[in-house]
Order: sequence, then structure tokens, then C-alpha cells
Amino acid sequence: MKATSIQVLKGVGPKKARTLEAIGIRTLEDLLTHLPREYVRIGSGLSLEEVRRKRPKEPLALELRLLGDMEVDGNGRVPRTRARLGDGTGSCTAVWFHMPFLKQRWRKGQTIRILGRLEEGGGGLVFLAPRILGASEPLEYPGLTPVYPLGKGITQTFLRGLLSQVLEGLEGLARETIPRELLAQEGLMSRSDALRTIHRPDSLEAAEAARQRLAFEEFFFFQLGAQFERGLARQVRNLHPLESRNWVTRFQEGLPFPLTPDQKTVLEEILGDMEGPHAMNRLVQGDVGSGKTVVAACAMLAMMEAGRQAVVMAPTEVLARQHHASLSSLFGPFGLEVGLLAGSMTAKEKKEARTRLSEGKWLAAVGTHALVQDGVEFASLGLVVTDEQHRFGVRQREVLGGKGECPHMLVMSATPIPRTLAWILYGDMDISAIKTMPPGRQEIKSFLVDGSMEERVLAFLEKEVETGRQAYVVCPLVEGDGEEEGEAPEVTDATTRARELQERLAPGIQVGLLHGKMRPKEKQAVMERFKKGEIQVLVSTTVIEVGVDVSNATLMLVENAERFGLAQLHQLRGRVGRGSHQSYCILFSDTRNPLVREKLNMLARTADGFKIAEYDLERRGPGEAFGNRQHGILEFRAGDLWADAPLMRETNRLVRSLLERDPLLEAPAHQELKREMLAYMERNMRQIVL
Ligand code: ADP
Ligand code: MG
Repeated sequence: MKATSIQVLKGVGPKKARTLEAIGIRTLEDLLTHLPREYVRIGSGLSLEEVRRKRPKEPLALELRLLGDMEVDGNGRVPRTRARLGDGTGSCTAVWFHMPFLKQRWRKGQTIRILGRLEEGGGGLVFLAPRILGASEPLEYPGLTPVYPLGKGITQTFLRGLLSQVLEGLEGLARETIPRELLAQEGLMSRSDALRTIHRPDSLEAAEAARQRLAFEEFFFFQLGAQFERGLARQVRNLHPLESRNWVTRFQEGLPFPLTPDQKTVLEEILGDMEGPHAMNRLVQGDVGSGKTVVAACAMLAMMEAGRQAVVMAPTEVLARQHHASLSSLFGPFGLEVGLLAGSMTAKEKKEARTRLSEGKWLAAVGTHALVQDGVEFASLGLVVTDEQHRFGVRQREVLGGKGECPHMLVMSATPIPRTLAWILYGDMDISAIKTMPPGRQEIKSFLVDGSMEERVLAFLEKEVETGRQAYVVCPLVEGDGEEEGEAPEVTDATTRARELQERLAPGIQVGLLHGKMRPKEKQAVMERFKKGEIQVLVSTTVIEVGVDVSNATLMLVENAERFGLAQLHQLRGRVGRGSHQSYCILFSDTRNPLVREKLNMLARTADGFKIAEYDLERRGPGEAFGNRQHGILEFRAGDLWADAPLMRETNRLVRSLLERDPLLEAPAHQELKREMLAYMERNMRQIVL
């Protein structure tokens, strides 16, 4: 099907189209599959007296009178504006953050219309950061209102309006993708019903059923693609067999430490693959710091000894440069130059790099994924090492290897996944695991604290910096994007936090800011300064999650820890404790949700990534599927890897029996399905690479 651009909709010109593209919406199909994060029922007609008695959980729209002038309290981390409001039957308090100007706009005695949720706990009625409604906005909204993930310059109202336009013509748009027999056999609703329902549900139950249907489809095609590829991969002959293990032996002898037993086992599996009859397709799992890089370096050397090229592909430029630096020093004794190909290099440098790769002057190289995108040619590519977010299928191998010279594939994953899920998720690969850490690794002391500990924590940070150490401060957002109904009121954003800390910390402490919206060159510069110690406190979003390595950093502060997944927090924690100094991880959270607190406490108590992953898998109920998107590993739109694990197993079983009957999907009855699968893989590649 030809993709229809989002620009056909009313209200979307080239400029809006760009803001939509930033959140992954380019086509009508993208818009339809931009799913609600949660649903709210708005409106009440209740008096404050009734609100006090009923304590409704859904957002309320109320028309109230200001009982006094607003007050701004500037002592906290964030300026807070308070208002006392009443309606004759009772009174309540409303609080806003970062909006001191409200005080000038509103006076005692005026009528104000607010829309927000009643905050739980506390004695009186409190509305945290309610939206202030305009005079023409209704106080009653019928039905369930979807709340969407937003981006800069995009409001709920705008997205809801666009969806209304698309839902009108839905039948023509939302083609069925699951074969009819399977729909009937599994008792699934049609795709167009599911899409209509998920955007306009009558009840939460209906919305959940629709989500399950869409999750089924995602999992089904994901499984089909992976297992189909595995079938193909098993047929790919090994065109790059090893010739000797001399270099690997020499390399190990030159290391200042012996490999751990796990590292040895995994290396043996890898070398065995590359000596065997088929191309390698192997995943290595292991916590941050477990020593995967050294093992990958061995695999690269073995391949280079056979005269073939070995490349590492990194998702970001920061990471690429880091791999480049560490491999350069590891391969130094062999007199091997490690090439680099990264986005921020000049056109001339890139051209030169390409020439060296195509002429085989570089046996080893590191690049960002642009490396493949721009169609680099290799003289003789034998091995590609990537990380988990960037798996390459058989067809991508062809792109990489040119002329069908399928290279060996080695995927490194620092996200430990319970075995039960790993064999399904990575169904197209052989799996190895490094479970034990190298000896002498120190324990990172971890704590969960709330905002009241702020002063003490900052004093501790200053002390660490005074003794020469460095710290990370991680925030969930880049900068506050205007409050919306249903948004969490007091989420710390990196930009604001960096500014605040620079003011509050002792003079002489340099605070830096790093986030994903910065240009690669800027990011690079900030990272360099942090590495050199010119910046002592690095405030960032999760861009540092992947692989940043500064062994002098001993403190990891995570703001709004409740907004992160456990696996992600565990990864963040792995950024410290890389040197000889005692390291700490402090999780800030004001959440009062006991389940979330328990989860965060579990993380603070446990160092083993595999245990954390298993805990996560056990504890997440289906109820958490909405609004709690999986971070880190694979992102599904409707499905949740953890909460929907049974569904993943079910689709796995269906796909296996399908492919047992028709391994290469050659039957005429399966042609439609095969096209659908290829389209799915194509779309996913696009999402992955962008
Ligand atoms: P990963 O890539 O899994 O995060 P690395 O390979 O970067 O881990 O290793 C982390 C640190 O541990 C590096 O400084 C590395 O030199 C060291 N290391 C790796 N293997 C061993 C080992 N067997 N014994 C001691 N130190 C090791
Ligand atoms: Mg590493």
C-alpha cells in the first residue's frame, strides 16, 4: 500500500508535518498507530462538597471563585503558585509549578475554570497543576477522552482533531493484515474495529480488548519476521571461515587480566560459529561492565587474521567514538589502525574513510549506523558487531556485505532478559550470556530518597566533587513542554535542572548539559569536557544510558526515578562504579505509589541485572501496559513485552506451526502474508535506523 502523507489532513502544512515527524508520525498509518497513553473522563457538575465526599479519580472540570490573591513561594526547587478557591459549598487549593506569572493575571473574587485531577492524600482538596480553561471551553466532555504521547508544539486537542479526520475514512485506510482464518481461529476483532475502538472507546474494557488485538498483530509479525529470517540465516553458508586463532591467543596473553570463565565460554561459542559451516548469528547478553567488549575484540581479531574486515556499528556518535578509542588501544599492540566513520565528520573525511574501507586499508572500523545507510562498500567484510537495538536481518546483511557476501553477525546486549523471553525475542539468533562480573568489581551503593533529602544529597554531591570525583544527574525530559491535562505536574527537566544546579552548587563546580536534541558536534564537545574533568556534573537525559564511560564518575543521581523502567535504571547505574572509587546511585522519587516504591527499592537492593529483569517480568501486571511503555529493548506500540509475555508466547507458537508447514512462505495462500511481513520489517528498519 502506498503510504499517504499526513499532509493530506486539514491543519497540517509542511511546518506542522515536521513537528509531527519528530514524534514518528509521517503517514496516516503512523497517526492511526500513535496510540493513547491512557484515557480520562472529564467533567463532573459536582460541587466541592460532593467532590470532598466522592473523591473522584478522573479529571474534573470546575468553575470556582478565587478566595484570595494567589501566592508565589520561591523557596523550593521550583517556583510554586498557590490559590485558594471555593464555590459556596467548600474550598480547595490549586498549585502550579513554574508559573509565577499567574499571580499577576488573577485577582481575588474572580471566577476561574480549572481542569485537573484531585491529588490523593493530604487533608484538604488539592489540585496539582490543573489546566486553566478558556471561557468557551466546555465543563463537560462526553465519553472517555484519549491522552496521547506528545511532542514539542503538539497538543492533545490538535492530535485528537487529526484523529477525528482520519477515523471518518477509516474503512478505506485500515486494511486487514492478519489472514482471515487466523482472525476467526483466534477470535480477534478486525483491524479497523481495533483502531476505531482504541481511539474512541466506550469503556476501558473495550480499549483493552482493542489494544490486545493490535498487540497480537505486532507480536505476530515480529515473530514471523524473526523466524523467517532464522530459516534463511540457517541456509547462509560461512563465507568467512577462520584460518587460525593465533591473534586471539596473543591478544589474551597481552591483556592485564585473564578472561573470566563466562567470557571464555562465550568466546569459544563465537569462534566455533565462525569456524562452522554457516554464517554466525549470535547474541551475547551481559550486564554493563561484564566484559563484552573484550570478547567482541577477540572475535574481530580472529576475523582480521583471516584477512577479512570487522566493523562495529554504534547507535550514537558518542558511543562510536568511545568504541573507537577503546578498540584503538586494544589493537595497538597489533599495529592495527581502527577506522572511524561518523556523522559529524566533514564530507572530505568521510570520503577518505569510505575509500579506506573499500580498498581494505582498514581492517577494523567503527561507525554509526549511517555507515550502512550511505551504502559504504567494503573490500571484504567478514564480521559486523552491533548492539541490541540494531539487529540486522539477512537482507541487511546483503546491503552490508555487498554482492551477497553475508558477514558474520554478533549482537551485544546489555539488557539482561529472562531466558523465557530471550528465546522468543531473539528467536532468530543463538544466545550466549556472560553472567558473572570480572573479579574485584565494587558494589555500587544505591538509595531511594524523596525530595526532602534534596539538600543533603546536593551537599554529598559537592563533597564528591571536592574530592575530585564527577557526577551524573539524569532527568526524564529535555525541557518542560507546556503542561497538558493528564501530564505529571512536577517532572524535572534536564535544561531547567542544569541551570538550577549551576546556581545552587558551590562556585567553581561546572555543570554541563547533554541531551538527544543537541547536534552530534555539541554532544561530542560536552562529552569531551566531562571526560577531561572540565565539567564535573553532567545533567542529561537518557542519552548517556548507552555506553558512556568515565571511570572518575562516582555518583549517579536520577530525578523522577518513577518515570524510568527498571532495566533502564539498572543501565544508568552501570555508568558509575567503573573505576576504583566507591560509587553511589541515588534515585529521587516523590511517588507515593507503594508498588512503584517497592520496585525502586528492589533495584536499590539488587545488583544482578538478570534478577532485576526477572523481577520486572513477574511483577508487571497487564494493568500497567498502558502509559508505561517499555524503554530500552524493543519498543512495541500496542504490546508490552513484559506485561504481554503470554501473548508473545502464543504468537510464537502460531508462527512456528505456520513456518513448519511452509518455511519460506512459498504457498500461494501465504503470498499476502509474506508481503505484509516484509512491509512490517521494512517499517521497523526505518524506525530503528531513524
Ligand atoms: P561491557 O562491554 O560488557 O560493558 P567491558 O568489556 O567494557 O564491559 O569491560 C568493563 C571493564 O572491565 C573494562 O575496563 C575491562 O577492561 C574490564 N575487564 C573486562 N574483562 C575483564 C576480566 N576478565 N578481568 C578483569 N577486568 C576485566
Ligand atoms: Mg562496553
